[in-house]
Amino acid sequence: MTTLFNGRPLVEPPVLGGSEHTDYYLINDLLTDDQRSLRKRVRDFMDREVTPIINPYWERAEFPHELVPKLAQLGVAGFQIQGYGCPGMSNLTAGLVVMELARGDLSMSTFTGVHSALAMTSIALLGSEEQKQRFLPAMARLEKIGAFGLTEPFHGTDAVKLEATARRDGDAYVLNGHKRWIGNATFADYVIIWARGDDGHVGGYVVEKGMPGLDAQVITGKTALRCVQNAQISLTDVRVPAENRLAGSHTFRDTEKVLLASRFFVSWEAIGAAIAGYETALAYAKQRHQFGMPLAAFQLVQNRLAQMLADITDMMCMQLRLSQLMDEGKFSMPRVALAKMHYTQRARAILSDARDLLGGNGIVLDYHVARHLCDIEAIDTYEGTDTVQALIVGRDITGYNAFVPVADGH
Ligand SMILES: Cc1cc2nc3c(=O)[nH]c(=O)nc-3n(C[C@H](O)[C@H](O)[C@H](O)COP(=O)(O)OP(=O)(O)OC[C@H]3O[C@@H](n4cnc5c(N)ncnc54)[C@H](O)[C@@H]3O)c2cc1C
Repeated sequence: MTTLFNGRPLVEPPVLGGSEHTDYYLINDLLTDDQRSLRKRVRDFMDREVTPIINPYWERAEFPHELVPKLAQLGVAGFQIQGYGCPGMSNLTAGLVVMELARGDLSMSTFTGVHSALAMTSIALLGSEEQKQRFLPAMARLEKIGAFGLTEPFHGTDAVKLEATARRDGDAYVLNGHKRWIGNATFADYVIIWARGDDGHVGGYVVEKGMPGLDAQVITGKTALRCVQNAQISLTDVRVPAENRLAGSHTFRDTEKVLLASRFFVSWEAIGAAIAGYETALAYAKQRHQFGMPLAAFQLVQNRLAQMLADITDMMCMQLRLSQLMDEGKFSMPRVALAKMHYTQRARAILSDARDLLGGNGIVLDYHVARHLCDIEAIDTYEGTDTVQALIVGRDITGYNAFVPVADGH
């Protein structure tokens, strides 16, 4: 149905959709039937259930709780985790799921990513058998929601220097400190808090909703991922039973194992957002007429669309290989960092260009690009900016650690 304005057709929002031109090098042909059908199921879910309702939530900065039971039915929470009611997907399959969630909405992919790739993966990688049995099944059903509390007000990129403490006291640990930006934390049932123990090493502690001394206040005024409820957390003498300390978390290197897995999925989010920008721009350019012709007929517009498609094709080919390496166990933080750096840079450029191609409508939420353009800024920052990813790759390829400059004495 096309809206008429004085009897003439306007471009109808939403214009997101149409994948036939996006998979230019036929990556879908390399997938299994199961991967193709799951990818389509997630895409259909986002197009049918999320896209039509998400903008008012975004505008009000509210989380759409009504979507959680529907998301649970998709059965994707837990991503690559084996057993405990989790789907046990390959890295590629889980990545495709994240990409489709992100193509629809980056707040929903972030919610699912924080829950699955950060909170659940912390327990799966570092928890004891008893802890996995106790926490994971209800999280896989999305009956219990997880959060991941690493960043602090004074420690973002240098999270390794975190100041929160966990002091052993009888059969419990007593946690004190502050955390910032913690996604889902205002309503999460389990927040994995990373804190420094009596031995000076960082460990993970499952802090449960309602534990006295835990206070999580939502951060307001965000211009990105407005549906995600990011919290400023205060921990004041929170007594956490000793059996809630993740048994396999001994040093910050263990925390990094979780971050590696999770950063891989963040890189998929960037591809999903880029695809949303490209598909919207293409569909819009075909419908919108200026100078008596569709925008898509102009050479300069075609050049921009072709550049976007080249970037997406490049990312998909690169990501397919990275996923194989992940599945073969040949992963490393620099390999994942290269992907996160490259894709978020390209996604930001594509979404900015798509926004421009929609003209004034590009800043109207109904057309969806505006929301993705704002949201991609947070994807760029969380789990490390492109600068930080470049430093990780740079250290690997040169052998020089350029993270910590040496003061010259002035
Ligand atoms: C929407 C959102 C959701 C988040 N969710 C979570 C969550 O669920 N859990 C959690 O624990 N954290 C979360 N974070 C925190 C996120 O991981 C941090 O914001 C991120 O690591 C950057 O830290 P910072 O914001 O303190 O920036 P800073 O570390 O202060 O960095 C500021 C700037 O300095 C640059 N910089 C820093 N160090 C160097 C260096 N050595 N060389 C050159 N440049 C440098 C950075 O690239 C950046 O441009 C979230 C953040 C956002 C915005």
